[in-house]
Amino acid sequence: MTDRISHWIDGKPVAGTGRTGDVYDPATGQVSAQVDFAGPAEVDQAVAAAAAALPGWRGTSLAGRTRVLFAFRELLQARKHELAKIVTSEHGKVESDAAGEVARAIENVEYACGAAQMLKGGFSENASTGVDVYSMAQPLGVVGVISPFNFPAMVPLWFVPNALACGNTVVLKPSEKDPSAALFIAELLAEAGLPSGAFNVLQGDKVAVDGLLAHPDVKAISFVGSTPIARYVYETGTSHGKRVQALGGAKNHMVVLPDADLDLAADAAVSAGFGSAGERCMAVSVVVAVEPIADDLVAKIADRMRKLRVGDGRKPSSEMGPLVTRAHHERVSSYVDTGVAEGAELVMDGRGVEADGANDGFWLGPTLFDRVTPSMAVYTDEIFGPVLSVARTPSFDDALALVNANPYGNGTAVFTGDGRAARRFQNEVEVGMVGVNVPIPVPVGYYSFGGWKDSLFGDTHAYGPEGFHFFTRTKVVTSRWPDTSHAGVNLGFPKNS
Ligand code: NAD
Repeated sequence: MTDRISHWIDGKPVAGTGRTGDVYDPATGQVSAQVDFAGPAEVDQAVAAAAAALPGWRGTSLAGRTRVLFAFRELLQARKHELAKIVTSEHGKVESDAAGEVARAIENVEYACGAAQMLKGGFSENASTGVDVYSMAQPLGVVGVISPFNFPAMVPLWFVPNALACGNTVVLKPSEKDPSAALFIAELLAEAGLPSGAFNVLQGDKVAVDGLLAHPDVKAISFVGSTPIARYVYETGTSHGKRVQALGGAKNHMVVLPDADLDLAADAAVSAGFGSAGERCMAVSVVVAVEPIADDLVAKIADRMRKLRVGDGRKPSSEMGPLVTRAHHERVSSYVDTGVAEGAELVMDGRGVEADGANDGFWLGPTLFDRVTPSMAVYTDEIFGPVLSVARTPSFDDALALVNANPYGNGTAVFTGDGRAARRFQNEVEVGMVGVNVPIPVPVGYYSFGGWKDSLFGDTHAYGPEGFHFFTRTKVVTSRWPDTSHAGVNLGFPKNS
């Protein structure tokens, strides 16, 4: 009998009563568990628990709330290896990648521990004679977080710490492909002293998402996933009057100028192209080689790819794990056939890779296409796997125009030794997160994360200062204390002071 992965509502596991889905161990290809899929009744139950916990949690002092977050941070730090192993067992990424994910998650908890500073309002004394004006940032209420499969620990923790720090209560709907990390997080939050109901996990699929989007007691939605679903969540959530931030897909370009350090650029292309098997929204999927260096750069990238060890993420020798599910493996592999049919030059073919793991694992080795053009599906589509494309351009201006013509605008990077070129690139590129001689520019926890164009719907980025902004609404008070001495009360102040 396989394990059953349940919901977490009002401080305890709650078994589902309806549909379930398969969860895989991607390195063996076997079903490892069944996950419950919430129906409307379970959505109501989770939201009701969060609503019931709201007055107590938002009424808890700032010191009290941050004390829970400090304790949560310590527990995460102490048990980070366990969490990383959970991520690897359901997602497939190698444990060093999973450990990196957990480390970035902890960063966000640490940032949220600064809530007392972040939630200070403004105060203007004597804005008019005897009149003071001040602002306060108040929580929204019950907020929903809907996360993708590729960072089952980090993406929920992009939002949950700030949401809780601001005094909201939360219902998290994690990906049904790797749902266990969310339950581990729930257990640690409870152990850290978070009151029951302040954080709930609703397992499931579209039914659970639609339930949250329509629920009148859910005031805001933070979503991360693919662009079509992000657009749907944004439009549906806002049509129900909710505040929504919906982060979507990506097609990240890394531009390499002729004066770049090509070894540094090749290292970056391989680590950012194939880390987590390319299942990262900040993966590099297109290297834009500005001539005349393309031949040299492609050779250097291919050399490094040949040395990448593909295998079970639990083995310390593995550098790249399997894809998350059989269906995703089939989809990504089919793009290798598509690229060949479209006339791209297949430099390295990951199909039929010999992985250090079970035969039925969802393996696809690192794959490299050269001479990819914007009309090809391997260029236009987000493949979300270990398939890297090289597009060649004659000049810096052509490279910049190519990046800006792409409908996605999540991340990009430029590799160059020329500060003027780098400054022009960062100034003119229409992308939300930019690296200069840095491959994956995921901003640190005290900045915020978000793309432009089809990579983000809404106007607020995730975590950092914008996270605090998203999870609060501002109230401005204009106040006057008139002279009450006429009512017979004289506190001894001079008249009109
Ligand atoms: P996905 O869009 O398939 O799923 C995301 C979430 O939406 C999951 O919780 C899923 O259960 C739910 N969902 C799926 N289909 C739905 C539907 N029809 N209606 C309502 N809800 C639905 O994404 P994924 O495959 O889990 O994750 C990979 C995608 O996420 C990639 O496109 C990647 O670029 C993107 N991503 C973006 C960022 C970012 O910050 N911009 C970060 C991580 C991942």
